[in-house]
Amino acid sequence: MKSQEVRSKFLNFFKDKAHSIVPSAPMVLKDDPTLMFVNSGMAPFKEYFLGNGQPKNSRIADTQKCLRVSGKHNDLEEVGYDTYHHTLFEMLGNWSFGDYFKKEAIAWAWELLTEVYGIDKDILYVTVFEGNEDDQLAMDSEAFELWKQFVPEDRILMGNKKDNFWEMGDQGPCGPCSEIHVDIRSAEEKAKVPGKDLVNKDHPQVVEIWNLVFMQYNRKANGSLEVLPNKHIDTGMGFERLCMVLQGVQSNYDTDVFTPIIREIETIAQSNYRKNEKVDVAIRVIADHVRAVAFSIADGQLPSNTGAGYVIRRILRRAIRYGFTFLDQKQPFIYRLVDVLSEKMGTAFPELKSQKHLIENVIKEEEASFLRTLDQGLIILDGIVKSTKGTMVSGEKAFELYDTYGFPIDLTALILHEKGLSLDEKGFNEELQKQKNRSRAASEMSTGDWTVLIDDADQEFIGYDALEANVKITRYRKVTSKKDGEMYQLVFNLTPFYPEGGGQVGDKGYLEDVHGDVVYIVDTKKENNVIIHFAKSLPEHLTESHKAVVDAKQRYRTECNHTATHLLHQALREVLGDHVEQKGSAVHSKYLRFDFSHFSKLTVEELRDVENFVNARIDGKLPLIEKRNIPMDEALNEGAMALFGEKYGDTVRAVRFGKSIELCGGTHVKNTADIWHFKIVSEGAVAAGIRRIEAITNDAVKDFYVENNRQFFEMKDLLNNSKEPVKALQSLQEENANLKKQIESLLKDKAKNIKGDLKAELQDINGIKFLAKELDLDASGIKDLCFELGSQFDNLFLLFAASSDGKALLSCYISKELVESKGLNAGQIVRDLGKYIQGGGGGQAFFATAGGKNPDGIQEALDKVKDYIA
Ligand code: ATP
Ligand code: MG
Repeated sequence: MKSQEVRSKFLNFFKDKAHSIVPSAPMVLKDDPTLMFVNSGMAPFKEYFLGNGQPKNSRIADTQKCLRVSGKHNDLEEVGYDTYHHTLFEMLGNWSFGDYFKKEAIAWAWELLTEVYGIDKDILYVTVFEGNEDDQLAMDSEAFELWKQFVPEDRILMGNKKDNFWEMGDQGPCGPCSEIHVDIRSAEEKAKVPGKDLVNKDHPQVVEIWNLVFMQYNRKANGSLEVLPNKHIDTGMGFERLCMVLQGVQSNYDTDVFTPIIREIETIAQSNYRKNEKVDVAIRVIADHVRAVAFSIADGQLPSNTGAGYVIRRILRRAIRYGFTFLDQKQPFIYRLVDVLSEKMGTAFPELKSQKHLIENVIKEEEASFLRTLDQGLIILDGIVKSTKGTMVSGEKAFELYDTYGFPIDLTALILHEKGLSLDEKGFNEELQKQKNRSRAASEMSTGDWTVLIDDADQEFIGYDALEANVKITRYRKVTSKKDGEMYQLVFNLTPFYPEGGGQVGDKGYLEDVHGDVVYIVDTKKENNVIIHFAKSLPEHLTESHKAVVDAKQRYRTECNHTATHLLHQALREVLGDHVEQKGSAVHSKYLRFDFSHFSKLTVEELRDVENFVNARIDGKLPLIEKRNIPMDEALNEGAMALFGEKYGDTVRAVRFGKSIELCGGTHVKNTADIWHFKIVSEGAVAAGIRRIEAITNDAVKDFYVENNRQFFEMKDLLNNSKEPVKALQSLQEENANLKKQIESLLKDKAKNIKGDLKAELQDINGIKFLAKELDLDASGIKDLCFELGSQFDNLFLLFAASSDGKALLSCYISKELVESKGLNAGQIVRDLGKYIQGGGGGQAFFATAGGKNPDGIQEALDKVKDYIA
């Protein structure tokens, strides 16, 4: 069964069971401070499990892109070495939000696997939670009884808390789970060791394919469990593993999900898969990682130096490194795999098709730059090797190479090994640990339990229409971190505060009670669909009503910038073309930043056209036309621009100014005229094929022009209030250039004259042509003079001195013959004489200089130098 069919059979099965089929949410999370990437199918639905919202249908099924490369789930180091863990994989899942529970989940899983997919019952095992004393939980006998209807008892295995109790995090919803495992070994192997002894033992052919989680508890901050009023089902089945079973192969990499990519790698690298274990690992690493990186870029996450971008960069670099080391790929090549990838997966994930060129460009550029790093690192490593005494290279040096230059440590170890040296791994690990401790200490954070004041989960956002409201605090908690110290997070029943999101910063403002006590709100964020206000202290009268007031000025400036961002987006597509796509934006009160796909630097004319386009729409006084809570299809039909990499709920908000229509949750001015004016302040590249514009609006533009104007008048003043300052400046520049030329030729003449005079002054002492003298020349003039004289005379010994700005300079020149025959050394001589000018210096035996801070000592130095030839 082809993988496409495997996927659609899953979705159709649950569709028939009244589930809504939804597209995969983006893998890179935007509004969840606790998670960088979606690492399981349930992550996009967290808010529903937490009770912070209700989906339209309480039954949902999908295939979700997951990435397990950081945090609680990190399979990165396994990938390539085993045959069934990936960084990016698809998780097929079905969900019940307070709807059906264990009975249906178990029966349907069994029906799908054995009847729809026709998997032989005799290769399946299931597990059930055995209970746990610490949590005072008994075995999950409910699940056990349900499984018994389908599975013989000796194939139902008891599992411990680690494998069979699923938790969302340290706190939050959790519950027992049942896993389904397959045993795909040969009959011969099975006869030797029974499958049930290999379940959950990391055997490559006895693997877990599906996990059914029964969410029935909530874990509190103190570790205790409470029963959830609404019970949920969360299941996750590894798509690639399922394909392995259904295609009768022994490895995920032998399914049609991976073979086309592997064939392409074989062709490019001219090496065969399944000939040599090291090469095989490299091929699997690359085949896996190109998927992870391509999907991330398609989701809008570019490789970078921080956060999620850094994780992506590290994945790509791991692939480059394996290609470099084991496939001898010294040129970019991974980007060439994007073609097959988008062809094979572009139907299920259209973002791969539409963003193909961008993905290729970004990967290629990253490859080229990391290959340069590798080259440079190899040179530095060479230096380290040469300076190493003994056979062990210090961990500290290796760490520096790794930390400062980004040179991978395993490559260092490998190269040292090839050279017969070894790496002090203990020392390296100590350095690494030190660094980790430093960064951990910096980011340590503790989060308290919520204290609930009003048990009402609903929260209303009224910030589109109001900047002030009377609110009630429904719950709060304390968060302590090294960075921010103590902070309080407050949730209100309704709020005018806009939470950071969609690129726009969170609102600031204050809370005031009837007694006049004020608490400042320093930031507003959204977590799992709840708006959280950050305060430095806790309001005194927590249970009373408060007036919540948004900082209107900051909000207004931010709105100007947000609306201008939409107009800028429209302008760029108009001026540059439809290939322009938004790749990121930051809307602050002081400025806006907009990243977009485009391949070349914008010309002055293009920038002017873009500015003019936006300003024309500001002058056009376009009103905000906003449609809240409309279905996605309706918004798209109206011509709204949808971005890949955004997670949208069932309904969306469309924001329109003239012909600019975008899906956007941000706040905007009521009319474009409010923006007053738009000005681009910079344009540049952020990555291959991605440009960045920074711009300002409103007050900031006024400030910008006022400041420019001030500088202009100051300049005009300096130009004697010329009526035509530009012309005046040009003629000054010309004049300046002419003067420079004149000075240069005068200096040349002067040097010539000096040379002539000096020739006459040369003394003959013991067959040496000697001169010691102070000159009115700079260091380079003196040097030129020495070498010119040197080319005309043999047996020359010169000591020239000069002084300027309280500094003294000595330059000593000695003909090579003298250096050899008389053992004279200019470097030594200037070092000795340096003491008279209170300084030091050095150089070579035939030419050296010294600098000092005592020009008064020059004469003494000139007198003493004769001693060397007397
Ligand atoms: P394993 O013990 O094999 O790592 P897990 O316990 O981490 O699996 P879950 O978190 O329960 O897995 O995820 C649900 C399903 O997702 C698993 O049953 C498996 O089929 C699949 N899966 C998990 N991790 C990966 C991975 N790194 N690559 C591919 N599939 C995976
Ligand atoms: Mg795992």
